[in-house]
Amino acid sequence: MSVNAISKSSERPSRETGSLVKSVSVISTGTGEGHWEHIHGSRKPALWWIFFGKRWVKLPLNVFVIEHSNGLVLFDAGQDRAVMTNPDYWPEGITGTIMRNLFRFDIGPDETLSMQLEKLGYSTADVSTAVFSHLHLDHTGSIGEILHADLIVSNEAWEHMLGLHPEREAVFRRDIELPGAKWQQIDFEPADDPSLAPFEYAYDLMGDGSMVLLPTPGHGVGSISMLVRRDSSPPLLLIGDLTYRTEFLERFQFPGTGDKKKLRASFEKVLALKKRMPDLVILASHDPGAAEALSRF
Ligand SMILES: [Zn+2]
Repeated sequence: MSVNAISKSSERPSRETGSLVKSVSVISTGTGEGHWEHIHGSRKPALWWIFFGKRWVKLPLNVFVIEHSNGLVLFDAGQDRAVMTNPDYWPEGITGTIMRNLFRFDIGPDETLSMQLEKLGYSTADVSTAVFSHLHLDHTGSIGEILHADLIVSNEAWEHMLGLHPEREAVFRRDIELPGAKWQQIDFEPADDPSLAPFEYAYDLMGDGSMVLLPTPGHGVGSISMLVRRDSSPPLLLIGDLTYRTEFLERFQFPGTGDKKKLRASFEKVLALKKRMPDLVILASHDPGAAEALSRF
Protein backbone atom coordinates (compact mmCIF):
# COMPACT_ATOMS: atom_id res chain seq x y z
CA MET A 1 0.00 0.00 0.00
CA SER A 2 1.37 3.38 -0.93
CA VAL A 3 2.34 6.08 1.47
CA ASN A 4 0.00 9.00 1.15
CA ALA A 5 0.02 12.31 2.89
CA ILE A 6 -3.45 13.28 3.92
CA SER A 7 -4.76 16.49 2.46
CA LYS A 8 -3.04 19.46 3.96
CA SER A 9 -3.16 23.10 3.12
CA SER A 10 -0.07 23.93 1.09
CA GLU A 11 0.76 26.99 3.12
CA ARG A 12 0.88 26.79 6.83
CA PRO A 13 -1.51 29.30 8.40
CA SER A 14 -0.51 31.28 11.45
CA ARG A 15 0.43 29.40 14.62
CA GLU A 16 -2.82 30.69 16.08
CA THR A 17 -4.69 27.44 16.27
CA GLY A 18 -7.54 28.32 18.60
CA SER A 19 -10.21 28.46 15.99
CA LEU A 20 -8.98 25.22 14.45
CA VAL A 21 -9.54 22.87 17.40
CA LYS A 22 -13.06 23.55 18.59
CA SER A 23 -13.42 20.85 21.22
CA VAL A 24 -11.80 17.71 22.58
CA SER A 25 -13.84 14.99 24.27
CA VAL A 26 -13.21 11.45 25.43
CA ILE A 27 -15.50 8.45 25.19
CA SER A 28 -14.92 4.83 26.17
CA THR A 29 -16.06 1.81 24.17
CA GLY A 30 -16.90 -0.19 27.26
CA THR A 31 -14.51 -1.48 29.89
CA GLY A 32 -11.46 -3.66 29.69
CA GLU A 33 -9.62 -5.52 32.40
CA GLY A 34 -5.92 -6.24 32.52
CA HIS A 35 -3.72 -8.00 35.04
CA TRP A 36 -2.30 -5.80 37.79
CA GLU A 37 1.20 -6.87 36.67
CA HIS A 38 0.43 -5.80 33.10
CA ILE A 39 -0.62 -2.31 34.16
CA HIS A 40 1.87 -1.67 36.96
CA GLY A 41 4.80 -3.69 35.68
CA SER A 42 6.32 -6.81 37.20
CA ARG A 43 9.62 -8.64 37.41
CA LYS A 44 7.74 -11.87 36.78
CA PRO A 45 7.66 -13.16 33.20
CA ALA A 46 4.53 -12.16 31.29
CA LEU A 47 3.48 -15.77 30.77
CA TRP A 48 3.42 -16.23 34.54
CA TRP A 49 1.03 -13.37 35.30
CA ILE A 50 -1.03 -14.02 32.17
CA PHE A 51 -1.91 -17.50 33.45
CA PHE A 52 -1.51 -17.18 37.23
CA GLY A 53 -2.17 -13.51 37.93
CA LYS A 54 -5.21 -13.10 40.16
CA ARG A 55 -5.57 -9.33 40.39
CA TRP A 56 -7.50 -7.71 37.57
CA VAL A 57 -7.66 -3.96 37.04
CA LYS A 58 -10.55 -2.27 35.24
CA LEU A 59 -9.60 0.11 32.43
CA PRO A 60 -11.48 2.42 30.11
CA LEU A 61 -11.05 1.95 26.35
CA ASN A 62 -10.66 5.62 25.61
CA VAL A 63 -11.27 7.20 22.25
CA PHE A 64 -10.39 10.89 22.00
CA VAL A 65 -12.72 12.93 19.82
CA ILE A 66 -11.31 16.16 18.39
CA GLU A 67 -13.56 18.56 16.57
CA HIS A 68 -11.30 20.40 14.11
CA SER A 69 -12.49 22.97 11.62
CA ASN A 70 -11.63 20.46 8.86
CA GLY A 71 -13.69 17.65 10.37
CA LEU A 72 -14.03 15.27 13.28
CA VAL A 73 -10.85 13.39 14.20
CA LEU A 74 -10.56 10.35 16.46
CA PHE A 75 -7.43 9.31 18.26
CA ASP A 76 -7.86 5.52 18.44
CA ALA A 77 -11.21 3.84 17.81
CA GLY A 78 -11.67 1.47 20.74
CA GLN A 79 -12.75 -2.15 20.95
CA ASP A 80 -15.79 -3.46 19.10
CA ARG A 81 -18.54 -5.50 20.69
CA ALA A 82 -17.77 -8.59 18.60
CA VAL A 83 -15.47 -9.66 21.43
CA MET A 84 -18.64 -10.15 23.51
CA THR A 85 -20.95 -11.59 20.87
CA ASN A 86 -18.79 -13.57 18.42
CA PRO A 87 -17.76 -16.98 19.84
CA ASP A 88 -15.06 -17.20 17.15
CA TYR A 89 -13.57 -13.82 18.00
CA TRP A 90 -10.32 -15.10 19.49
CA PRO A 91 -7.84 -17.02 17.32
CA GLU A 92 -7.58 -20.75 17.83
CA GLY A 93 -4.74 -22.44 19.66
CA ILE A 94 -2.25 -21.03 22.11
CA THR A 95 -2.55 -17.48 20.74
CA GLY A 96 -6.28 -17.39 21.51
CA THR A 97 -5.69 -18.92 24.94
CA ILE A 98 -3.12 -16.24 25.78
CA MET A 99 -5.33 -13.43 24.46
CA ARG A 100 -8.32 -14.59 26.48
CA ASN A 101 -6.15 -14.60 29.59
CA LEU A 102 -4.54 -11.25 28.78
CA PHE A 103 -7.70 -9.13 28.33
CA ARG A 104 -11.26 -9.25 29.59
CA PHE A 105 -13.90 -6.97 28.13
CA ASP A 106 -17.33 -5.76 29.14
CA ILE A 107 -18.95 -3.81 26.32
CA GLY A 108 -22.66 -3.15 26.45
CA PRO A 109 -24.89 -2.50 23.41
CA ASP A 110 -24.87 1.22 24.24
CA GLU A 111 -21.08 1.35 24.55
CA THR A 112 -20.12 0.87 20.91
CA LEU A 113 -18.20 3.62 19.13
CA SER A 114 -21.34 4.64 17.24
CA MET A 115 -23.46 4.87 20.39
CA GLN A 116 -20.80 6.71 22.34
CA LEU A 117 -20.36 9.28 19.55
CA GLU A 118 -24.13 9.77 19.46
CA LYS A 119 -24.11 10.58 23.15
CA LEU A 120 -21.73 13.45 22.32
CA GLY A 121 -24.07 14.65 19.57
CA TYR A 122 -21.98 13.26 16.69
CA SER A 123 -22.50 10.38 14.33
CA THR A 124 -19.91 8.03 12.84
CA ALA A 125 -20.58 9.76 9.50
CA ASP A 126 -19.07 12.93 10.99
CA VAL A 127 -15.69 11.24 11.48
CA SER A 128 -13.31 12.34 8.75
CA THR A 129 -10.06 10.94 10.15
CA ALA A 130 -8.98 8.42 12.76
CA VAL A 131 -5.39 8.33 13.99
CA PHE A 132 -4.19 5.10 15.60
CA SER A 133 -1.61 5.25 18.36
CA HIS A 134 -0.89 1.61 17.46
CA LEU A 135 -2.74 -1.37 16.03
CA HIS A 136 -3.67 -3.45 19.09
CA LEU A 137 -7.16 -4.91 18.86
CA ASP A 138 -8.60 -2.71 21.62
CA HIS A 139 -7.71 0.38 19.58
CA THR A 140 -8.70 -0.84 16.13
CA GLY A 141 -11.72 -3.08 16.77
CA SER A 142 -14.27 -0.42 15.85
CA ILE A 143 -12.79 0.40 12.44
CA GLY A 144 -15.75 -1.28 10.75
CA GLU A 145 -17.96 1.55 12.03
CA ILE A 146 -15.86 4.29 10.35
CA LEU A 147 -14.79 2.77 7.03
CA HIS A 148 -15.52 6.02 5.19
CA ALA A 149 -12.84 7.85 7.22
CA ASP A 150 -9.13 8.26 6.54
CA LEU A 151 -7.32 5.84 8.87
CA ILE A 152 -3.85 7.04 9.82
CA VAL A 153 -1.07 4.84 11.18
CA SER A 154 2.69 5.02 11.31
CA ASN A 155 4.48 3.24 8.50
CA GLU A 156 6.47 1.26 11.08
CA ALA A 157 3.34 -0.05 12.82
CA TRP A 158 1.85 -0.98 9.45
CA GLU A 159 4.99 -2.83 8.34
CA HIS A 160 5.05 -4.65 11.66
CA MET A 161 1.46 -5.77 11.12
CA LEU A 162 2.46 -7.25 7.76
CA GLY A 163 5.12 -9.38 9.45
CA LEU A 164 4.80 -12.92 10.78
CA HIS A 165 2.03 -13.67 13.29
CA PRO A 166 1.02 -10.15 14.37
CA GLU A 167 -1.95 -11.74 16.18
CA ARG A 168 0.51 -13.06 18.77
CA GLU A 169 1.00 -9.41 19.71
CA ALA A 170 -2.73 -8.56 19.78
CA VAL A 171 -2.70 -7.13 16.23
CA PHE A 172 -5.54 -8.71 14.26
CA ARG A 173 -5.11 -8.21 10.52
CA ARG A 174 -8.63 -9.47 9.87
CA ASP A 175 -10.05 -6.45 11.78
CA ILE A 176 -7.60 -3.97 10.24
CA GLU A 177 -7.41 -4.81 6.53
CA LEU A 178 -11.14 -4.54 6.03
CA PRO A 179 -12.37 -4.17 2.44
CA GLY A 180 -12.74 -0.48 1.66
CA ALA A 181 -10.70 0.68 4.64
CA LYS A 182 -8.85 3.88 3.68
CA TRP A 183 -5.54 3.29 5.43
CA GLN A 184 -2.79 5.85 5.05
CA GLN A 185 0.67 5.18 6.42
CA ILE A 186 2.68 8.18 7.48
CA ASP A 187 6.41 8.68 7.75
CA PHE A 188 7.67 11.21 10.22
CA GLU A 189 9.44 14.26 8.83
CA PRO A 190 12.22 16.39 10.36
CA ALA A 191 10.41 18.76 12.71
CA ASP A 192 10.80 22.43 11.79
CA ASP A 193 9.09 23.55 14.99
CA PRO A 194 11.53 24.14 17.88
CA SER A 195 8.69 24.01 20.42
CA LEU A 196 8.47 20.26 19.76
CA ALA A 197 11.98 19.60 21.09
CA PRO A 198 13.31 17.12 22.03
CA PHE A 199 11.25 15.48 19.29
CA GLU A 200 13.24 15.77 16.09
CA TYR A 201 10.64 14.15 13.89
CA ALA A 202 6.94 14.89 13.63
CA TYR A 203 3.97 14.75 11.31
CA ASP A 204 1.67 17.75 11.09
CA LEU A 205 -1.70 16.07 10.56
CA MET A 206 -3.68 19.03 9.25
CA GLY A 207 -0.78 21.20 8.12
CA ASP A 208 -1.75 23.89 10.62
CA GLY A 209 0.20 22.82 13.71
CA SER A 210 -2.95 22.05 15.71
CA MET A 211 -2.51 18.28 15.71
CA VAL A 212 1.02 16.98 15.50
CA LEU A 213 1.92 13.29 15.55
CA LEU A 214 5.09 12.33 17.41
CA PRO A 215 6.95 9.02 17.46
CA THR A 216 6.77 7.41 20.94
CA PRO A 217 7.71 3.75 20.35
CA GLY A 218 8.02 1.18 23.12
CA HIS A 219 4.54 -0.15 23.83
CA GLY A 220 4.44 -1.40 20.27
CA VAL A 221 6.51 -1.01 17.13
CA GLY A 222 5.77 2.39 15.60
CA SER A 223 3.54 3.60 18.46
CA ILE A 224 2.73 7.29 18.21
CA SER A 225 1.34 10.15 20.28
CA MET A 226 -0.60 13.22 19.20
CA LEU A 227 -0.05 16.76 20.45
CA VAL A 228 -3.25 18.83 20.28
CA ARG A 229 -2.75 22.57 20.52
CA ARG A 230 -5.69 24.75 21.44
CA ASP A 231 -6.03 28.52 21.70
CA SER A 232 -7.40 29.23 25.14
CA SER A 233 -6.88 25.85 26.80
CA PRO A 234 -3.70 23.94 27.66
CA PRO A 235 -2.15 21.68 25.03
CA LEU A 236 -2.89 17.97 25.24
CA LEU A 237 -0.60 15.05 24.56
CA LEU A 238 -2.50 11.87 23.74
CA ILE A 239 -0.02 9.06 24.36
CA GLY A 240 -1.98 5.89 23.59
CA ASP A 241 -0.59 3.01 25.68
CA LEU A 242 2.86 4.47 26.35
CA THR A 243 1.76 4.09 29.97
CA TYR A 244 -1.53 3.00 31.50
CA ARG A 245 -1.37 5.75 34.15
CA THR A 246 0.01 9.20 33.48
CA GLU A 247 1.52 9.36 36.97
CA PHE A 248 3.74 6.35 36.11
CA LEU A 249 5.70 8.48 33.62
CA GLU A 250 7.59 10.56 36.16
CA ARG A 251 8.64 7.57 38.21
CA PHE A 252 9.64 5.59 35.12
CA GLN A 253 7.31 2.78 36.13
CA PHE A 254 7.05 0.64 33.02
CA PRO A 255 4.13 -1.66 32.21
CA GLY A 256 4.46 -5.44 32.08
CA THR A 257 4.83 -5.57 28.31
CA GLY A 258 6.74 -3.62 25.67
CA ASP A 259 10.33 -2.76 24.84
CA LYS A 260 11.75 -1.26 28.05
CA LYS A 261 14.64 0.52 26.33
CA LYS A 262 12.33 2.21 23.85
CA LEU A 263 9.77 2.92 26.56
CA ARG A 264 12.44 4.67 28.63
CA ALA A 265 13.55 6.80 25.67
CA SER A 266 9.94 7.76 24.90
CA PHE A 267 9.18 8.51 28.58
CA GLU A 268 12.23 10.80 28.65
CA LYS A 269 11.12 12.66 25.53
CA VAL A 270 7.55 13.12 26.76
CA LEU A 271 8.80 14.38 30.14
CA ALA A 272 11.23 16.77 28.42
CA LEU A 273 8.37 18.12 26.28
CA LYS A 274 6.29 18.56 29.43
CA LYS A 275 9.14 20.53 30.99
CA ARG A 276 9.07 22.90 28.03
CA MET A 277 5.26 23.06 28.06
CA PRO A 278 4.43 23.06 31.80
CA ASP A 279 0.68 23.25 31.19
CA LEU A 280 0.76 20.18 28.92
CA VAL A 281 -1.96 17.69 29.89
CA ILE A 282 -0.91 14.09 29.18
CA LEU A 283 -3.74 11.65 28.53
CA ALA A 284 -3.38 7.87 28.16
CA SER A 285 -5.80 5.56 26.38
CA HIS A 286 -6.51 3.34 29.39
CA ASP A 287 -6.04 5.81 32.22
CA PRO A 288 -9.18 5.90 34.38
CA GLY A 289 -8.21 9.49 35.27
CA ALA A 290 -8.07 10.73 31.67
CA ALA A 291 -11.73 11.80 31.37
CA GLU A 292 -11.56 13.73 34.65
CA ALA A 293 -8.23 15.33 33.70
CA LEU A 294 -9.63 16.41 30.33
CA SER A 295 -12.75 17.88 31.95
CA ARG A 296 -10.55 20.05 34.19
CA PHE A 297 -8.80 21.61 31.21
ZN1 LIG B 1 -1.84 -1.52 23.25
